[in-house]
Amino acid sequence: MKRSSLKTLAATSTLLVALGAPLGATASAAAPAPSSTANAATSASDSATGATAPGPEARALLAKARAALGVQARARKARLDTRVGLDHDPSRARLLAAIDPDAYECGPTVVDRWVDRQLASFTAQDRVILSILSVYDIPTYDALFFGSDENPAYALRDGKALTTSFRTLQRFWDVRGDDIDLMAMHGSMLLDAPRVSRTYQMLYGLPRAAADELAALLVDYLRAPRFEGGDHPLFTLNALAFTTFGQEIGPGRTISDRIVMGDGILRAYRELGYGDVAPQMILAHEYGHHVQFELGMTTPSTGESPETTRRAELHADASSAYYLSHPRGEGTQWRRARRFLPVYGTIGDCQFASNGHHGTPNQRLRAGTWAYELQQAARPKDKVLPAATFRDLFDARLPTIVAPDRP
Ligand SMILES: [Zn+2]
Repeated sequence: MKRSSLKTLAATSTLLVALGAPLGATASAAAPAPSSTANAATSASDSATGATAPGPEARALLAKARAALGVQARARKARLDTRVGLDHDPSRARLLAAIDPDAYECGPTVVDRWVDRQLASFTAQDRVILSILSVYDIPTYDALFFGSDENPAYALRDGKALTTSFRTLQRFWDVRGDDIDLMAMHGSMLLDAPRVSRTYQMLYGLPRAAADELAALLVDYLRAPRFEGGDHPLFTLNALAFTTFGQEIGPGRTISDRIVMGDGILRAYRELGYGDVAPQMILAHEYGHHVQFELGMTTPSTGESPETTRRAELHADASSAYYLSHPRGEGTQWRRARRFLPVYGTIGDCQFASNGHHGTPNQRLRAGTWAYELQQAARPKDKVLPAATFRDLFDARLPTIVAPDRP
């Protein structure tokens, strides 16, 4: 049977862990999630009602998008979002949702406020276009499908410190890590029509000509100065760990394990005053997800529930804190790190019952504090626990970490 590579990818148990996104894209997650793109477009359209009429450029783009991205194409992308976990990414959900300040259940956090300030640079029409055209997802999928650490287009900006931490992490945890591509995703790729087109072809199964046409119109639209040459931070507000568990995503095509760091997420925490600790902590958190892949904590058949997602996220937080405070890791910074943990990954994450729930700020802080104290109490101090031992100790502690603040 001949299948397109995209279809094959959707049929495999590809797994991606976005910052704050869930684990467990499973083959059994058959019930198709409602098309987040469609929903988002709807809600954004609602919020746009009564706004200034779109200009001719925007009208042409929207008409083309509606013609090209039919029900089938959108369903295909929705399935892919589910497979890779993007549909549960809280920061993404926040970008796609209409902003209603009264809708906060546990915020707004400083990160929410930062996101709102960035969103203010978009018009209502922009919001519709960015949703319908999946602009928030294009750099992610571009990096996942086409990126490599040998391609300068995916090189980290000012990546020297991160590369050093990455090498340290590879030595720190006793699982295989030499097969990971560490990459950046840059929003500037959104002005590169061929790259946008090939991503559309993958995501939506569009014929090349249609994807080229759509990409050309989008690139023109995104040239407006408010999009910062594509480098608007909301276009890359994410970090991801990814594996296909060695499965082919198309005939003869494999994708290496990878960790992708979005420029936008690094910028967000830099502007919030965490630039000294956030890059290493986010990288170590994503590396923690890689450890989970290697230990089999996450498998192609891992079920998806708030509990499994929360365990994975809190384990990644604990791994990150352990590494950061350990003399053979970063060896510093716990006082700073403990202030960063509660704000990390909490963008819009008030949906405690959703599959994408990552733990409350208090739970994340408790997971990190537990790991720090574990490291502090260890003798000799420079001994690094095997990853499997660390996991077992973490699992034993998990009930305490997630216990209600007030019983
Ligand atoms: Zn995570």
